[in-house]
Amino acid sequence: MPTPFLISASILSSDFSRLGEQIHEAELAGADWIHLDVMDGHFVPNLTMGPVIVEACRKVTKLPLDVHLMVESPENFLAAFANAGSSILSVHVEACPHLHRTIQTIHELGCKAGVVLNPATPADLVRPILPMVDLVLVLSVNPGYSGQDFLPEVLPKLSDLQRELERINHPVWLEIDGGINASTLPLARGAGATVFVAANAIFKHPDGIASGIHQLRALLSG
Ligand code: ZN
Repeated sequence: MPTPFLISASILSSDFSRLGEQIHEAELAGADWIHLDVMDGHFVPNLTMGPVIVEACRKVTKLPLDVHLMVESPENFLAAFANAGSSILSVHVEACPHLHRTIQTIHELGCKAGVVLNPATPADLVRPILPMVDLVLVLSVNPGYSGQDFLPEVLPKLSDLQRELERINHPVWLEIDGGINASTLPLARGAGATVFVAANAIFKHPDGIASGIHQLRALLSG
């Protein structure tokens, strides 16, 4: 039976001079989604990628593109990211004063919609929107850079969200992002996560991308 758990490979830690090859390698090794960490230098201190990179990824893989928008006023960029080939667009609750409308717009653009919580943001803030979304992403590092240490204090929030999703009986991917590796993945799985974003643990694995994915996958089976 296929595992209900998904691995979303974050290209933030990939070698951008060989992006196509590296995505291909991740796909062959069994990555389920490709995760893109979009940072605008305002909502978070770092500056990373825009719709052009989504477009480039779309050309080299058929895997769903899981686009995490760490930007101020994400509503201004939704159409550009959807047109570039995004499959899932996730926005931060902290960046969306009109979250309901933003989620509605994402669906109108033909994408799945996700909502993201920073480590210090309580689950209560997204409770009213849960019946509308396809994905909830709990950040387990403070957003801005890859390679940071997992914050175990987000685990109770993950469990809390899982219970709430069960209670309302709404099928939603519960994604964890930040510091996921072979040591932290079991903790997130135990707390209810179903989608695991990994960057360094895949693209900077000492034995290569495939080994990184196989190691995480082994922890998800059984
Ligand atoms: Zn992310």
